[in-house]
Amino acid sequence: MSNQIPVVVAGGGITGLSAALHLAEMGAPEILVVSGSTTPSSATAPGMISGGQRDNFTRVAAAHQTDFARVLWQFGDQAFDLTRSWAAHHGVPFATGRRLRLIAAPEELQEATIAVAAMNGVGIPAKLMSGLELTSSPWGASLGARILAVQDDGERGGWIDAQAFHRRLLEAVQAHSAITLLEGTVESISGYTASNLTVKIRAKTSPGKHSSGARSVRDVKLQTTKSAAVIAACHLAIGDLIPALKPALVSSADQWLTTRGPLDPRHSDCRWNTPGVAWSAFHNHEWGATQPGGKLLLGGGRILRKWAGFEATEAKVEPKISQYITAQAQKLFSQWQGGPGNHAPISEDAGLDCHPCDELPIVGPMFGEGRILVATGFMGQGLTLGFYSGHCLAKLLMTGRCDELPRRLWPERLRSLPDQE
Ligand SMILES: Cc1cc2nc3c(=O)[nH]c(=O)nc-3n(C[C@H](O)[C@H](O)[C@H](O)COP(=O)(O)OP(=O)(O)OC[C@H]3O[C@@H](n4cnc5c(N)ncnc54)[C@H](O)[C@@H]3O)c2cc1C
Repeated sequence: MSNQIPVVVAGGGITGLSAALHLAEMGAPEILVVSGSTTPSSATAPGMISGGQRDNFTRVAAAHQTDFARVLWQFGDQAFDLTRSWAAHHGVPFATGRRLRLIAAPEELQEATIAVAAMNGVGIPAKLMSGLELTSSPWGASLGARILAVQDDGERGGWIDAQAFHRRLLEAVQAHSAITLLEGTVESISGYTASNLTVKIRAKTSPGKHSSGARSVRDVKLQTTKSAAVIAACHLAIGDLIPALKPALVSSADQWLTTRGPLDPRHSDCRWNTPGVAWSAFHNHEWGATQPGGKLLLGGGRILRKWAGFEATEAKVEPKISQYITAQAQKLFSQWQGGPGNHAPISEDAGLDCHPCDELPIVGPMFGEGRILVATGFMGQGLTLGFYSGHCLAKLLMTGRCDELPRRLWPERLRSLPDQE
């Protein structure tokens, strides 16, 4: 490393790597990425991607007003577009097609009707199909009787190979001469009144190429680095580094599996059989995406966990949830012959995600210390929102402004939360 005062990035998931790469591409002379001591959730995420927001527009508008819901929707769309474009240019396997909400209950239909009207009212294309219009659409013929209607949010839905995405991003970071990658953790940030921040890092002794090899206690040492700014992109663990954020974040456990299609073997050209269709059903408690090679991603079933998975400290694959996910998918797609002994899971996994208490991602400079920037709380959309947030924070740091990043996402809104320390 040169004698420049580096920008330190804490976290080697999609968000941190994106921030580092965008900083370097925008001309930051020295960036030190401290990648963390656990596998990033980005590298094991199932890979459903979508624009807009995971929740329906009505939920966001009810909590944050329609005008801001529109802004947030655009933020999600821009995140989707940037991710798709980066993936296309860097050989990351992905497929994009459609984002659909499958409506299974009368009250959900009522909500979707209001959502689509509100979306159209602020210029967001969305469409609700039911009855004859649905059955004669490319989607309707394959759906089970459980589905009353389909909300079509347009062409911002899909699937990305999350592992390859993370790997390609890591390779791009490793190849950049302005970036040094260090395995370890940022232990503390201090020096708020000084001209540079002081960052304590517990790291492996030899900085350089990232490896996933096991480490021993003897491998690590504590080092102190002066830093011009810190970007904290450490997902749920961000509260350990920045205690003011701890009360704002809630964990949630969810699980998914991959299995085989096609969803409708009667028609080889059925839209459900093409890769890149992302859907959710039953208020997002069930979700999935069609993948290349005829594979299917199916997820959800959080409601079968204690407290619907909220405040979980670990996430394990539960066989009863895998069975539930498969059974629910059979009810969504009447022609799909999935189920135990037929389409058994090819792979299954579970993970902990990060929900801010007001259900808005937390992205921007910390109140009281603008040289610490944070990005977390993406609620199931971190592959796109994390990647885009990395870009936004880099731009904010390098140019002093980022109009694409809504100010309402800044952590300043959490000022009044009680401090846990
Ligand atoms: C069940 C489940 C399904 C999901 N499905 C999807 C999906 O289909 N699509 C989607 O877009 N998103 C999905 N997500 C969300 C997505 O996985 C995350 O939002 C995203 O990966 C977060 O990326 P990140 O870079 O912010 O954090 P991570 O990828 O978790 O990276 C954070 C890194 O920070 C490191 N770290 C922690 N503390 C420190 C420290 N003090 N110093 C330095 N480093 C530190 C950690 O070791 C870790 O490596 C899902 C999440 C779950 C749980």
